[in-house]
Amino acid sequence: MENIKTMNEYKTTIYLKSNLHIGSGFAFMSLVDKTTIKDQKGFVIIPGATFKGKLRSICKKICLSLESEFGQICEGKDSPKVCKSSQETACIICRLFGSAYNEGKLIFRDATLLSEDREKIEMIKKLDHFASPQSELRSGNRISRLLRTSSSKQLFVSESCPRDLIFEGKIFNREALKDVERKLLRWGAKSLLQIGGQKGRGLGRVSVTIEGM
Ligand SMILES: [Zn+2]
Repeated sequence: MENIKTMNEYKTTIYLKSNLHIGSGFAFMSLVDKTTIKDQKGFVIIPGATFKGKLRSICKKICLSLESEFGQICEGKDSPKVCKSSQETACIICRLFGSAYNEGKLIFRDATLLSEDREKIEMIKKLDHFASPQSELRSGNRISRLLRTSSSKQLFVSESCPRDLIFEGKIFNREALKDVERKLLRWGAKSLLQIGGQKGRGLGRVSVTIEGM
């Protein structure tokens, strides 16, 4: 078990401003080949790993443009220049998000729908068994790269969860966070404006807050 004494809990809130699609990799009755990821009860979730990955890449961009503020960062896991040192001397990105050589200070839990939103969904489901209030189906044509034409035979359907839903998640820290680390995480959360797949279709626009950071 983690050391509870130094561990803080930060509530993250993710407001959906457009439909969200986080691919589950599963097809649904072979009609929908891009389903969204859900928990055991069937509610849409934003996996902790998805949120972590997104926040990490945004924080990395911030560090690259503000080296004087956050120090030099390494080039990441596939680079010989990755931080192989202890937690203390590693760069701020490896310290917070971990690398192959240390586990990082932060633990991300999955973000789940607000209980009010879940109740709403349950109610609509009871009223109409065929309603799918947390997902909308979109269809689109796949463009054949060879022929440069879109073929109706290649019609695919993609599931996404509708806007205006609110997700809540948690971040825990294994070790105390320094002021500069909390500052980077605050900036990262503010700059995180898109999550999940199909960005080109305008999906996954979000605003994010991390309470108490
Ligand atoms: Zn590093």
